[in-house]
Amino acid sequence: MLREDLTFVGTCDIAGLVRGKGFPSTELPTRRKLGIGWTHSNLMQTCFGPILDTPFGTAGDLMIVPDPTAEVDVDFRDGSAREHFILGDIRNTDGSPWECCVRAFLRRAIAALREASGLELLAAFEQEFVYTGVEDVPGHAYSLNAFRRQGVFGEMVMAAIRAASVHPNSFLAEYGPRQYEITVAPDAALPAANAAVISREMARGAAFRLENRAIFSPMPVAGGAGNGVHVHFSLHDASGAPVTSDPSGPMGLSAVAAQFAAGVLHHLPALCAVTAPSPVSYLRLVPDRWAPTVADIKLQDREAALRVCPVFDAAGEEQRQAQFNIEFRVCDAAASPYMALGAIIFAGADGIARELKFPETEAPLPASLGAALDLMDASEAMKSYFGPVFFEAYMRHKRSEAAYLADLPEEELCARYAEVY
Ligand code: GLU
Ligand code: MG
Repeated sequence: MLREDLTFVGTCDIAGLVRGKGFPSTELPTRRKLGIGWTHSNLMQTCFGPILDTPFGTAGDLMIVPDPTAEVDVDFRDGSAREHFILGDIRNTDGSPWECCVRAFLRRAIAALREASGLELLAAFEQEFVYTGVEDVPGHAYSLNAFRRQGVFGEMVMAAIRAASVHPNSFLAEYGPRQYEITVAPDAALPAANAAVISREMARGAAFRLENRAIFSPMPVAGGAGNGVHVHFSLHDASGAPVTSDPSGPMGLSAVAAQFAAGVLHHLPALCAVTAPSPVSYLRLVPDRWAPTVADIKLQDREAALRVCPVFDAAGEEQRQAQFNIEFRVCDAAASPYMALGAIIFAGADGIARELKFPETEAPLPASLGAALDLMDASEAMKSYFGPVFFEAYMRHKRSEAAYLADLPEEELCARYAEVY
């Protein structure tokens, strides 16, 4: 078969989808410098495809410039086209970062944390999804049978993640029907968000090659099990030493980690518009689903918004310090990992800068995307994280998405989102 080797450069945009363009790989040396052409209104493409509203019109040019540290070149060795893609930054034609670039948003958050504390954050994403290539059988949850019955899919995903230079950590059959989960090792914030995008795409890529799908939609079936994206994080000083834990602090948290968590809790109801950014996200954030419903922090509780994770004291003090982390559970795969992690870090940095304490009451999380967007619209903090142009674009994108399918019954809404994610 006559074939030309192609490479794709793209970004995981505010719809949480990787979009960009492909070109002959022979052009790579030039494309590494110039990137690919993009336009402002590309940001306004909803997860369904159409642009429903845009402040940018049809004018303007941007470039997505590939980041050499976010290159994936994975051959599944089945004769299919290689997964050769590079995640990149959206830049103005003069080379400066575009204010609505999701990776620039995360970089600004990292800088805000550094400025407030001198600290760095390590993160690891845990992602749940439904694999369609396996029958739903009774007793599936966490079973060896469900682990076995997915066939070679798990091996393919884990090998692809490793081949993409991300460190795979675990693959398991989750609680829901046909639900599985992938975790990867912690890394600094930007590479951790890259890794979340890459591992999601490797799961989709492996499933595609087996003529199946990996569905990451937050609630694939109305009334079913939710697919969460849990973001584990820890704080480290400039030398890399962990500073999240203090056995004498509240829930074992150091003073600075408690302030960071307080900042997240303080801003959380508004933050939902970024970390749980689809109408079906709010079908997941309901009681009795091992998912959060209020802005709370709890020790080792899987319904908390922030879960202080267990450490195994038996492993010794050094291991205990290194393992100690907090899990943010209000996130799902409708969110770009760059945006979700950026929002968490901005809020945490604010908590440190203002030496915030845990809120006295646990605010309820919004019950719909519309309610979350109203809270975001009223948040001066969120406005400052985004800047005016990005804030308006984000609000208009998400408001138009919320209105688009507003009249659909839950079953159909879930089905539409399951087609996309
Ligand atoms: N599936 C649950 C969620 O939507 C989480 C289950 C778990 O604790 O891993 O977040
Ligand atoms: Mg899980």
